[in-house]
Amino acid sequence: MTPRPGKGPSTVGVHSGSPDPRSDAPVVVPVYQSSTFYGGDGAGGDLLYTRYGNNPNQEEVASKVAALEWMEDAVPLASGMAATAMTLLALTRTGDHIVASEHLYGATKKLIGTELTKRGVTADFVNPEVSREWRSAIRPNTRVLFLELPTNPTLRVFDPRPLAELARQEGILLVADTTFATPVNVRARDLGIDVVIHSATKYLGGHSDLIAGVVAGERTVMGEVREMLKMYGPALDPHACWLLSRGIKTLGVRMARHNENGLTVARWLESQEGVRNVLYPGLPSHPDHQLASEILSGFGGMVSLVLEGGGRAADAFTAALRLALRAPSLGGVETLVSQPRHTSHVDQSTAERESIGIPDGFVRISLGIEDSDDLISDFDQALGHARSA
Ligand SMILES: *Cc1c(COP(=O)(O)O)cnc(C)c1O
Repeated sequence: MTPRPGKGPSTVGVHSGSPDPRSDAPVVVPVYQSSTFYGGDGAGGDLLYTRYGNNPNQEEVASKVAALEWMEDAVPLASGMAATAMTLLALTRTGDHIVASEHLYGATKKLIGTELTKRGVTADFVNPEVSREWRSAIRPNTRVLFLELPTNPTLRVFDPRPLAELARQEGILLVADTTFATPVNVRARDLGIDVVIHSATKYLGGHSDLIAGVVAGERTVMGEVREMLKMYGPALDPHACWLLSRGIKTLGVRMARHNENGLTVARWLESQEGVRNVLYPGLPSHPDHQLASEILSGFGGMVSLVLEGGGRAADAFTAALRLALRAPSLGGVETLVSQPRHTSHVDQSTAERESIGIPDGFVRISLGIEDSDDLISDFDQALGHARSA
C-alpha cells in the first residue's frame, strides 16, 4: 500500500482538534460542561447548543475522527447504535431500500431488519462474500449498502472495494461499521467507503468507561446526520467527549499493542491441545488472511476460538480465568472474554448459531494491552480446566 500524504494516525490522534497554541491557553481542551453559550443565540452566527453537536468538546472529537478517517467531517453521538440509527435515518425515507451484509452486530441487524421496516424502509440481507448477491439485491429504490469490517465474532473480512464500485455505479452510498478495525488498521476512505461508523465505546474510547459513537463522511451527508441529531437528540455528553478525546490520543499506541497481542496469542492458541480452531485474520489458516493482509494494516486485538468439548469446556475456560475478565464488549485496555451464545447471540438456537460459524464452545477474546506472557499463562491454566471439564 502506498503511504498516504499527511501526518500519521498517532500524530493526528494527539493533535487534531486541539486549540491553537497561545500563551496561557490550556494544552488540553477542558470539559465545557455547559448546555449553552453566550452569543450563541443564533443572532449573526450559529446557534450554539450541546444537543446540536457544536459544544467545543464535541467539536474536538469530530475533528479528530474526521482527520483520522480522512473524511471531510464527523459527528459524535451518544452510542454506536445512535451513530448507526442517525446515519440510516438521514440517508433513507419511506419507500427506500437498504442492502446489508448478513454478518452484522445484533442490534444493527434488528434496526435494519425490523425497526426501519416498520417505518417503511425495507432491507435485504446478503452473503457479503458474493458480489453477485449485492448486485442482484439492488433495486431502483436502494439508497445504502451496509457492511461491517471485520465481522463479530467470526472476524471475517469482506472486500469493500467491489461494493464501493457498485455503489458508485448506482449513485448510492457504501456505509461501513469499522469498529473492529479502527482508523489505525483500515483506511476506509481509500477502500471507497463513503460513510464510516464506529462504536467509540470500543477501541476509540479504549478504556471500557464510556458509551459513544461517531460517524464520518462527506460534509453534506454529515450535515444530514446533524439534522437527525437535532431532532432525535442523542448528543454525546461533554464529559464523555472529553474522555473519548483522551482515548483517541493513545489510539495509535494502543492499537499497535492490541495488534501485537492478537498475533502472539492467536499463534499460541493455535498450537494448544483442546483448541479445535482459532479465528484470527492474521493467521494463514484464516479464510480471509490474504485479503486481510492486503487491506488491513494490522489484524487487531480480537481473537475467537472454538474449544473441543463445546459449551461445557467454554464455561469451564471462562470461569477459570484469573487475569482476563469475563465480560461482554471489547476494545478496552483490559482483556475481556465472552461466549456469543450467552451474549450477542443468546436469542438464536444452537443450529442457527452453527450455521453462521458459531458452534457451542466458541469463545471470543478482546485482547487488552497487558503483557502477552501474562495473558498466555492465564489462558494456559484456563485451558487445563476446559480440557478436564
Ligand atoms: C458495540 C458495537 C456496536 C454498538 O455500539 P454501542 O456503542 O454499544 O451502541 C455497533 N457495531 C459494532 C461492530 C459493535 O461492536
